[in-house]
Amino acid sequence: MPRPPGRSVDGHVARKRFGQNFLADPHYLARIADAVAPRPGDIVVEIGPGLGALTAELIARAGRVIAIEIDHNLAARLAERFPPHALELVVGDALAFDFRTLGRNLRVVGNLPYNISSPLLFHLADQAGALHDLTVMLQKEVVARMTAEPATPEYGRLTVMLQVTFAIERLFTVPPGAFRPPPTVDSAVARLVPLGSAAPRIADRARFARVVTAAFGQRRKTLRNALSDLVSPPAFEAADVDPQRRGETLSVAEFVALADAAGAVI
Ligand code: SAM
Repeated sequence: MPRPPGRSVDGHVARKRFGQNFLADPHYLARIADAVAPRPGDIVVEIGPGLGALTAELIARAGRVIAIEIDHNLAARLAERFPPHALELVVGDALAFDFRTLGRNLRVVGNLPYNISSPLLFHLADQAGALHDLTVMLQKEVVARMTAEPATPEYGRLTVMLQVTFAIERLFTVPPGAFRPPPTVDSAVARLVPLGSAAPRIADRARFARVVTAAFGQRRKTLRNALSDLVSPPAFEAADVDPQRRGETLSVAEFVALADAAGAVI
């Protein structure tokens, strides 16, 4: 069956599969760019510039922006709108992009495509060493999960996997009416700053990820049951974590201790 046509915005048919909801409200565009507040010499990198509304605000403050856009039609429009000295365009998939090739201390910004927000945040967390900070707009519920405290319904895998790498702050919310076409959800802007040398040392990141994923796989299970294949009773003891607890009650530091003990104690 043919797909229904998307909504046209400034002559561009918005593509759902690329999560295209364009921020159009000047108030929120300025607020995001002001939250970034680029300083002279900063390398500003925008993910998904779209029609270039936020890009223009960023260029006005930083002088120059590097942007990664997957949609060839939008990239062609952006190349016409901004001169190459103001906008360096990378046409491609941000999920496959190595941000480290752009330098260090990057100021990464984006009104992110909501359909790929979690994998994109994990991809950026893997490259946190190259980032100064990350200012992103996401679905409001996703920001609530990123900033959640233990023992709350929002606390989960996304919380732990991001808070182990970043200090995360919710800045402000943005209503659907600020976008064209309007999304069906509320949005919020968050700032993520890599913890750097303050980040907990993790002996084996892959094992840490497996432990966190299994602990939240079935939230109602005790850790003893949820992690029976991964963490032995002596490892629980070594990490000083009661196996009768549920994953959602563990702090990020306790998850690190448990994953490390799982590797060190048989
Ligand atoms: N920044 C613009 C704004 O605020 O109006 C557009 C935001 S729109 C929510 C998301 C943008 O990300 C779209 O331009 C879309 O084409 C682009 N995009 C989607 N998936 C992408 C990917 N994997 N890599 C790079 N850009 C992507």
